[in-house]
Amino acid sequence: MTYSRMTLFAAGGAAGLFALACAQQDTGTWSVHDMNRPQPAVVTPGMTATDTAAGTAPSDAVVLFDGTNLDAFRTGGGAAAWKVEDGIASVQGGDLHTRQDFGDCQLHLEWRVPADFAGEGQNGGNSGIFFNDKYEIQILNGYENTTYPDGSGGSFYGQHPPLVNPCRPKGDWNTFDIIYTSPRWNEDGSLASPGRATVLFNGVLVQNNQAFTGTTVHGDTTKYGSPHGPGPIRIQDHTDPLQFRNIWVRPLGN
Ligand code: MG
Repeated sequence: MTYSRMTLFAAGGAAGLFALACAQQDTGTWSVHDMNRPQPAVVTPGMTATDTAAGTAPSDAVVLFDGTNLDAFRTGGGAAAWKVEDGIASVQGGDLHTRQDFGDCQLHLEWRVPADFAGEGQNGGNSGIFFNDKYEIQILNGYENTTYPDGSGGSFYGQHPPLVNPCRPKGDWNTFDIIYTSPRWNEDGSLASPGRATVLFNGVLVQNNQAFTGTTVHGDTTKYGSPHGPGPIRIQDHTDPLQFRNIWVRPLGN
């Protein structure tokens, strides 16, 4: 993967200064969080088995949340702070981290933004799933809610917009099914291959074995840090009242 930056001369004047500050990534000519980047096309997802009730985990999965408790998680160094009620976990009090570390894996979760929540843009129902505690796949209401494409639901935050936007309206449950591959490292500590993920959002492909360009960050280009092994899966508290159910993961051997 390579990175480049717009030149001051190519863009010219004050606009050039802004462009220089907004470093590009290798996905084309778009700056990070560029509102001029084309919006993902809206797709209405088909009905799935979990549209009327929470699904259940496969027999070999590590169940992270089945509606009863959040014992598989911690918030900071203690117990998970989120509220559990009526089989639903609601964001409060900080990010959730799995107590168990994971590398390559298949992850399923179901999420929704409450129907009466009035936030917009990046505050329109924001959470996210961080693999290895570093690489975020964005959770955000995308139904009649416009934001920068590389921060919309199903994006690799600040890197790759989703291929399309199949988000359901607030009040309805959405599903994520993610196949994640951890980055690999050479013996000298350099990156051998980037982290990757395939993401199905309400059963619709939105990331196809896409590579992360590095740790996901806000408003800047990314790069990979030090080599790392498996780590917690983190679910973000972005202060919006997201709700979750039926979270499970199947480790894939690395
Ligand atoms: Mg987020």
